[in-house]
Amino acid sequence: MSQNNNQPPRNNRNRNTFGVVSIIIWALVITVLMNMLFSSFRSSDVQEIPYSQFRQMVQDDEVYAVELSSNKYLITTVADKEAAEKAAEEVTQSQLQNGLGPLLSMVTPTAKARYVTAPVNDDGIVELMAEHHVEFSTELVEESSMLMGLLLNYLLPMLLSIGLLMLLLRFMTNRMGGGMGGIGGVGKANAKVYVEKKTGVTFADVAGQDEAKESLEEIIDFLHNPGKYTEIGAKLPKGALLVGSPGTGKTLLAKAVAGEANVPFFSISGSDFVEMFVGVGASRVRDLFKEAAKMAPCIIFIDEIDTIGKSRDASRFGGNDEREQTLNQLLAELDGFDPTKGVIVLAATNRPEVLDKALLRPGRFDRRITVDRPNLAGRLATLQVHTRNIRLAEDVDLGQIAQATAGCVGADLANLVNEAALRAVRHGRRAVNQQDLLSSFELVIAGSEKKGTVLTEREKQLVAYHEVGHALVAAKQKDAEPVTKITIVPHTQGALGYTMQTPEEEKFLMTKEDLLTEIRTLLGGRCAEELVFNTQTSGAANDIERATDLARKLVTMFGMSDTFGAMGLATVQSQYLEQGYGLTCAQDTAALVDKEIRSIIETCHSEAKDILSRDRADLDAVANYLLQKETITGKEMMAILNGEDPALTDGFGAAPITPA
Ligand code: ADP
Ligand code: ZN
Repeated sequence: MSQNNNQPPRNNRNRNTFGVVSIIIWALVITVLMNMLFSSFRSSDVQEIPYSQFRQMVQDDEVYAVELSSNKYLITTVADKEAAEKAAEEVTQSQLQNGLGPLLSMVTPTAKARYVTAPVNDDGIVELMAEHHVEFSTELVEESSMLMGLLLNYLLPMLLSIGLLMLLLRFMTNRMGGGMGGIGGVGKANAKVYVEKKTGVTFADVAGQDEAKESLEEIIDFLHNPGKYTEIGAKLPKGALLVGSPGTGKTLLAKAVAGEANVPFFSISGSDFVEMFVGVGASRVRDLFKEAAKMAPCIIFIDEIDTIGKSRDASRFGGNDEREQTLNQLLAELDGFDPTKGVIVLAATNRPEVLDKALLRPGRFDRRITVDRPNLAGRLATLQVHTRNIRLAEDVDLGQIAQATAGCVGADLANLVNEAALRAVRHGRRAVNQQDLLSSFELVIAGSEKKGTVLTEREKQLVAYHEVGHALVAAKQKDAEPVTKITIVPHTQGALGYTMQTPEEEKFLMTKEDLLTEIRTLLGGRCAEELVFNTQTSGAANDIERATDLARKLVTMFGMSDTFGAMGLATVQSQYLEQGYGLTCAQDTAALVDKEIRSIIETCHSEAKDILSRDRADLDAVANYLLQKETITGKEMMAILNGEDPALTDGFGAAPITPA
């Protein structure tokens, strides 16, 4: 996905100047240290002697030359001078032999000062030196050379170390994901926030997902014209949660909202907030909202919100202070900002169940928008969107590709189309043909097979019959809740399809018959597997768990069994933890309870199986229709059961169906 106009938000000014000052101070320290180190090296081959010894040496004719300066005398001895002359002789000799004369003349050794002494106020020394034929001189100190010295000794190394330090810092900040913003500036906002002034994405770029688009429509309208809402006093939710598998287009939808409303788009990933240092994430949240407020109205998009929004009371050992602080800050910001300003937070997750309840409370992310895996029509539309700018050969049949890609998400399909285009280029063709699409389909499938989302033909049949099993058992029982939707498009992790039932009116009480009806419905899936394929699949695990749980409650808590009657055998242990309950009876009784539960399950199982085998033709008809369409409504199913053409019922129910 391309991100145009990416620019990091302007950092705090104070912080920048602070960083520069600290760098300069560090560079200064390094320079001084380096100078001290070098001067100690330099002086190491010059030996300091007392002045009296120097005077004695002059008198003894041991001194060849002295260089006088205001704070030290550098002394060259006669012995050294002679040694140097000898060495020079040898060098010249060898140069003459090798014929390299003039080239190397500069490396001819000369005598170096061996001793140094501190000058004493001694007027006679000059005369003494002249007497003993000592060469003496003093350096011509020019102002410019002093300047040069200063420059060379201090300014240059300092500039160098500033450069080095800056490089080092940049390297560190990049490596640590922005953790160290300057020495001493740990953790101010270097998080990777992307701002797009204009996303350039509209709803036309998002294929399918009509329900999600419809829910987002209101937000767009609000961003367009907040006055309309504030006039009445209506408050819009500050946030909406986009829930769906990875690659289903949550980011794309969020961008499209910004694009449709023509407002800037801030995006950040939840994992960017979580850092080593406690408090870093929280300060990033604060900065993010501050930046966004400046550009309001705008959209803030937080990807992978589950990384910070994990439930806090899932009492693990130790806990995680950092995440908790970040989450608290996020909640505070959500509560704090003025909803009329027009900052709307969209968050995405594929694990809504782990989110902290506090995040989902009214006024926060109280709207949940499901972004489903696309069905056949959705996949076809996605393929069409992504082939818009691609030259297709005449033999291309996108319908066939859509048919084959059950379970694929939008990102898979986008990838498939791109792979096909690449393949066409590799083969030197000027347009993408069907073969390109089919073989890149294999590539994408081979890549995603591990994820277990793409079903084989047989699996699809098994899932279809399983789901229709549920639906039919429900439809054929008097008190069952009506089926509203059956799908074999894989949804959350593990569930390969589902059957949705919606009660006609809210129920607060369950009769014994209601419970048994529900158990039969839950077992309907397994019954269909047995009846049609003479097999059992692991897909029924969740159904069985729920059916057994219901039966257990029926016996132990609701007092509805024949054996025990109205005897309480279990108590609720914690109202908040998944409705956990524990048995409060003797072990022998517990064994009897299990037996009772088993008999309930078995009775319900055989009753459900009877229903299905009695109406086997209906089962086949609905399953075939489902296989073809992948998602069907309850009305379409009822139409088939009534012997009508399901294609004539409109999906959202203008034409009422007369029940048989
Ligand atoms: P998510 O945020 O849900 O993981 P993205 O929004 O990042 O998924 O989707 C990744 C890519 O997949 C998008 O850039 C787009 O090319 C493609 N895509 C996903 N869903 C759709 C869709 N409904 N219509 C068109 N393209 C889609
Ligand atoms: Zn099932």
